[in-house]
Amino acid sequence: MTDLASPSPHFRLERLAEGITAAIATDDGFGLCNSGIIDLGDSTVVFDSMLTPQAADDLRRVAERLTGHPVAYLVNSHYHGDHIRGNGSFPSVRIVSTQKVRELIDERAAKALESDQRSAVTDIEDLRAGRLSAGPRDRRIFEGWFQGILATPRGLLIPLPDMFVEDRLVLRGTKRELWVMTFGGGHSPSDVLAYCPEKRIAFLGDLLSVGFHPSVGDGFPTEWIRILGSVRRLGVHWALPGHGSVGREGDISTLQDYLRALVRLANSARRQGQTRADLNSVPIPSEFSDWCFRLFFAENLARAFDLLPA
Ligand SMILES: [Zn+2]
Repeated sequence: MTDLASPSPHFRLERLAEGITAAIATDDGFGLCNSGIIDLGDSTVVFDSMLTPQAADDLRRVAERLTGHPVAYLVNSHYHGDHIRGNGSFPSVRIVSTQKVRELIDERAAKALESDQRSAVTDIEDLRAGRLSAGPRDRRIFEGWFQGILATPRGLLIPLPDMFVEDRLVLRGTKRELWVMTFGGGHSPSDVLAYCPEKRIAFLGDLLSVGFHPSVGDGFPTEWIRILGSVRRLGVHWALPGHGSVGREGDISTLQDYLRALVRLANSARRQGQTRADLNSVPIPSEFSDWCFRLFFAENLARAFDLLPA
């Protein structure tokens, strides 16, 4: 893995293999999520379009400069705003995802942006006043996140996916192929990943985070554990997470451990007759206590609690 010269305030580049590059979101930029750039030989694929058009404009420019051809395909891993709000910076591409992701973007993306923009100023005040449970690195990331939301044009149009994967879709180029795949919904109701079989590199969106608490509030921990098992069976040399640095197979099993811990803690709270409010006092297990996004933990545990069978 080689660091390439920094092309943007919103991300840095890491070369994972010949023709395959990770764009890792900088802490204080407007990218927030990581993206992948894959050179198929005669066309280019970008995986996830980041939080803002500003980051996505840079991403497209860099992808085309690195590979020497226009971006032909953009993959949307799921409907969350930090992975799709840059879609409009990729005109005349095919946007690949599931039908379900298209429906979710169509139903929710504009409303979510509007609501994020309404609360961003207060969110920044709360952050600066120390009212959010956030360490120093979290504070930098949240500041970039909220400023990115404020810098996003009101009423931004977010083009919808127009090419659909049901199980596996193979994008074939003159140099290599990329599998766009779905195993269902784990982090969100429908999650899409991409996999380069030649180099065993997986682009996982928010199905993986490395050194960051994942966001489980909209997800299904038990399904998620199963999906990560299917990803591991593909054989993974490098795994690009939605948040955090590039990982290995061991990082995927660590996230499975995190999700299992949530289910275990939720079950034990239920057995002890605790209520949802009591979950706020459950400490973060020590193996995950130095991860970023620590304020997600209580919400994640509450989600696991809500999903326990009656
Ligand atoms: Zn997400």
